[in-house]
Amino acid sequence: MKKIVVLGSTGSVGTQCLEVIENLKNFKVIALSAGNNIELLETQILKFNPDYVCVKNKQDAEKLSKKFKKIIFFSGTQGLCEITKIKESDLVFNSVAGFEGIHASFSTLKSGKNLALANKESIVAGGDFLINIAKENNCKILPVDSEHSAIWQCLSGKEKFLKNLILTASGGPFFGKNKKELENVSLKGVLKHPTWNMGAKISVDSATMMNKGLEIIEAAYLFNINKNSIDVLIHPQSIVHSMVEFIDGNILAQMSTPSMKFPIQHALTYPERLNYSWGSLNLASIKNLSFYEPDFDTQEILNLCRDTIGDASFSCALNAINEVAVNAFLQGKIKFLDIINIVKRSMDKINSIKIKSIEDIIYCDKIAREFANNFILKK
Ligand code: MG
Repeated sequence: MKKIVVLGSTGSVGTQCLEVIENLKNFKVIALSAGNNIELLETQILKFNPDYVCVKNKQDAEKLSKKFKKIIFFSGTQGLCEITKIKESDLVFNSVAGFEGIHASFSTLKSGKNLALANKESIVAGGDFLINIAKENNCKILPVDSEHSAIWQCLSGKEKFLKNLILTASGGPFFGKNKKELENVSLKGVLKHPTWNMGAKISVDSATMMNKGLEIIEAAYLFNINKNSIDVLIHPQSIVHSMVEFIDGNILAQMSTPSMKFPIQHALTYPERLNYSWGSLNLASIKNLSFYEPDFDTQEILNLCRDTIGDASFSCALNAINEVAVNAFLQGKIKFLDIINIVKRSMDKINSIKIKSIEDIIYCDKIAREFANNFILKK
């Protein structure tokens, strides 16, 4: 029996993770963590019968503990870290949204547990520091992000022959549109992704193309590859999830229908491959797979992200500023095009900080957030 801790269980990836586990034999959900969606969490508790549960607020934990007497409840960031350390667990699946997820990633690796990682902010903000913690504690980071799962599957131990990574991007809902056409796009238009069904933050990131920029950073740290050896191709069908070019010129690609269940299951069952129970890929019905170079504006955003690689404090600040700007857009405080403007203008003013501890990362994140918030207030 493989015992899994599922963090962020009520989010888009979290709920899909539970659906995958439901269809796997010999997998048990031993712990769940959620934010504020207590109603869905209660349904999940009844279905999966975990031994431990963590929620964001203390009051919710107290209420739930009266209802579910056999379960041990935790709350807050500290509680989240506690359930990553449960002795009997075999794998921690981290699908917490945003920077908050980094705390769980650190405590998982520090306690010597393997980490299935859907929280890309952990890698972007944690950089080499997080990768080194994994090495020191002899644990694996198993990528759940579809592009990084694709690269991981294509590489399968042949890292020393790697020449280039080619990340694919769907192009988001505004592929082919110019800046003028994007001036007054609505939140609804931004959240309507053509191929993937995702949470609000990542849908906005996908529309601005920041998501792909963050994924370049994620790939550079995860696979220890030079930032200039990571290319991006727009692939609107989202069937090829990424490619690996080896030094002998051979290129491997990984394909599936655009569903997060494929990378989720691969991370859960690794190093095995087990039967799946949802729709398979029918290439004959899709007929054409197309690929395009990113346009000038997209390249600019990708380069903004690429340039932060090698200085963890810049990647961390970029992630924080973007998160603040996306939240401001989701709350209707700024326009769509302001997101990238705020990221660009704020990054110009950020100074490098030496990262030697998790506290340094939290500090760097805090300063960048304050800066971005002030910038938005002044606007
Ligand atoms: Mg992705």
